[in-house]
Amino acid sequence: MIKWSNKKNHGFLSLTKKTLGVFILVKFPEAEIRKFRNVFVCRKCKTKIKAPNMKIIQGKVSCRRCGGKAFKAVRKK
Ligand SMILES: [Zn+2]
Repeated sequence: MIKWSNKKNHGFLSLTKKTLGVFILVKFPEAEIRKFRNVFVCRKCKTKIKAPNMKIIQGKVSCRRCGGKAFKAVRKK
């Protein structure tokens, strides 16, 4: 009985993880994208990088100075 419920739980978790990813991609509001202006700052060396928002989200962009893949969006007020 316990085995069965564990299996069910795992299925549920992977499903929510998947749907969460899709949810984030779909839910990213256009207004936010405009606010960020496709400019990001490397978390390691603080280099500014201009790249399409979607590429940053998908991890396809790496910092040209340190090669890091962690970026922070720059907000312009
Ligand atoms: Zn960097």
